[in-house]
Parts: sequence; C-alpha cells; structure tokens
Amino acid sequence: MTTPRIKRIFVGTIQHGADLYESLSNIAVAEDITLGQISGIGATTHAVVAYYDQHQRQYTSMVFPGGMEILSLQGNISLRDGKPFVHAHIILGGPQGQTVGGHLLSGTRVFACEVIVHELEGAQLTREYDPATGLHLWKHSSLL
Ligand code: ZN
Repeated sequence: MTTPRIKRIFVGTIQHGADLYESLSNIAVAEDITLGQISGIGATTHAVVAYYDQHQRQYTSMVFPGGMEILSLQGNISLRDGKPFVHAHIILGGPQGQTVGGHLLSGTRVFACEVIVHELEGAQLTREYDPATGLHLWKHSSLL
C-alpha cells in the first residue's frame, strides 16, 4: 500500500470548444504530473465515451451529441509507457435529468468545465497490461 501526499493543486477552466480528454492530458504532460486525481463539473456540446465489454475485452464507443451537463468528471493520472496518462470517467445529464456516462474518450467537446487536479507525491503508480482483465492497470497497487 502506498501513502501519497498532495504536492500541488491546480484549479481552472477548460476552454470553450476544447477537447476535454486532450486538455486533461495536456495539463498532465505540461506540468509533468505523474500521479494525481482529477475532478470536474461543467457541460459538453458533444460527448464521446466508452463501455468496456468484459467478455469481448474491448471498448464500445458511444456518442452523445448536443448539450449535456457534466455532472461528475472523475479521473486519475499515472504513468503509462513512461509518460503521464489520464484515465477518466464522466457522468452526463440530459434535459430531463437523465444520466449517461462512461470511460472518457477524445472527441468530447467542452461547453464549459471547471476542473481541480490534485498532484500527489510520495508514491508512483505505473500502468501495465493485466491479463486477468485485458486492461492496463496499476501494477503492485493492491490495498490488501
Ligand atoms: Zn475507464
């Protein structure tokens, strides 16, 4: 088990029209954040998310065009292939309050988005291929 501490906290907005995933990735790389936690709220004009099929072991993408609320954006930053890598999930709300969501992909366009990133130090998590799931998960990170 690792016990990281907060190193820096970044607070700001993602530019109107920007790609949400690419913007988060750019922040991680530009600030060299190798371990961190991401949270945010806002709205999208076009959203692209994915669902991981555990039997097929592949992602199926879904597109939600038009305005949606970002009710919850949660993610983390760790190292994959030696570089800062963002993994984020998002819950979106529609005009009747209905929710959809999934694994955030490139192609999601921001209407407005307020983001807080907590950079952590004192631990390092690295993604490696996990044969049990077919995913790139944190290696040697079990809490128990
Ligand atoms: Zn995911």
